[in-house]
Amino acid sequence: MRIGVVGGSLGGLTTACLLQDAGFDVSVFERSTTALTERGAGLGFLEATGRYLTHRAGVDLEDISVATDHIRYLYRDGSVAHDQLHRYLFSSWNTVFGHLIRCFDQDRYHLGHELIDVEQSDDDVTARFSNGATFTGDVLVAADGIGSIVRQTLQPAAAAQYAGYVAWRGTVQEQLLPASVTDQLGDAITYFVHANGHILVYPVPSIDGSVAPGARLLNFVWYRNYLAGGELDDLLTDRAGSVRHLSVPPGQVAAHHVAEIRAVAEARLPEVVAAVVTATEHPFLQTIYDIEVDRMAFGRICLLGDAAFAVRPHAAAGTAKAAEDGWRLAAELSTVGDAAQALERWERPQLELGRELLERTRRVGRRSQVDNDWVPGDPDFLFRLHEHGDQALEPEPGRSS
Ligand SMILES: Cc1cc2nc3c(=O)[nH]c(=O)nc-3n(C[C@H](O)[C@H](O)[C@H](O)COP(=O)(O)OP(=O)(O)OC[C@H]3O[C@@H](n4cnc5c(N)ncnc54)[C@H](O)[C@@H]3O)c2cc1C
Repeated sequence: MRIGVVGGSLGGLTTACLLQDAGFDVSVFERSTTALTERGAGLGFLEATGRYLTHRAGVDLEDISVATDHIRYLYRDGSVAHDQLHRYLFSSWNTVFGHLIRCFDQDRYHLGHELIDVEQSDDDVTARFSNGATFTGDVLVAADGIGSIVRQTLQPAAAAQYAGYVAWRGTVQEQLLPASVTDQLGDAITYFVHANGHILVYPVPSIDGSVAPGARLLNFVWYRNYLAGGELDDLLTDRAGSVRHLSVPPGQVAAHHVAEIRAVAEARLPEVVAAVVTATEHPFLQTIYDIEVDRMAFGRICLLGDAAFAVRPHAAAGTAKAAEDGWRLAAELSTVGDAAQALERWERPQLELGRELLERTRRVGRRSQVDNDWVPGDPDFLFRLHEHGDQALEPEPGRSS
């Protein structure tokens, strides 16, 4: 089968690697005209996100992630409100992407290809790109993210719903922070929960991928409520005066908003947590949206990762969900010869996964940003892809065990 993957970020690239391994003729089409680097920031790193690298590419988890052994909650005065032993792994978008991209045939990863239109017949599917190129094949995987044009075309009713808050994010090199800060924050995910909001801090690999303590970054994610309309629009108006929707990237957030979060951090957050926020040179923000589809398979076309369900980040499971979609897709296409039948079989469990994760992350978001009934150590707030804990690895598609 000839398979096109639209969107070459973590979901699309993991899927493309899996389909390539299964022997399919795979091409990736990415809108960005330049090689993807340094997207986003830290990632809670669940098993499915790293599964391709550890199981197929021989990469050691310790080389691409940072482990923390504690979940810790602080009071405003910096004293410890709750400390429990719990192991998490953290990584970063560029660390994972940097390893994945080496596993895929570079001649088949096409930058500068923005999908503008797609159509299919009983026999094939054709994608058209803004540079005039076309792709015709047997299957088209839409991994084009939260703003997916394929979803907008095939599921126009599945509009993004603003969750009522944004995530302010940023990273600081550990070596730029006082030892008193890194000593307190370096071995844990650290939470501070305040009225109608919360912030979390955790260590992640450095830009060049170093995971050695002292050489890493400290990453923060601060969820803050903004009213839809004027208040949100003002926040999303960047330094050049353009109103953005999904995110305002590093260096583009209006100076008065950067000054405001720094001031609020100093006034209201525990000192060690505020130190990370105020030392971040270019904080950036992402608007939190819910997106739900009622179909993921449309004949020869499927929606995968954020292109299907965009879920709130509270389970740290977005990239794991996208990867899981990819593992099951490769398995179905490998075992069912007919493309449309394979996608149909693939769809139902992935819809269930997306719905369950969306519902759980909505609940966590409501509890933390609106209801204020979050108890430190509450198991509802543990990172995981599946409601009842993450499952064991399934057999590899296209390979005998
Ligand atoms: C605040 C925040 C914190 C998060 N924290 C975590 C976390 O800790 N752990 C975790 O696993 N996930 C986390 N996520 C979620 C995670 O970032 C997403 O779920 C993940 O990036 C989805 O991957 P994807 O490949 O489906 O889409 P994306 O990463 O959005 O990639 C889509 C790709 O498609 C390309 N594209 C778009 N349109 C077109 C087009 N028309 N033609 C061609 N290419 C196109 C884009 O350029 C992009 O490269 C977080 C999200 C947010 C907002």
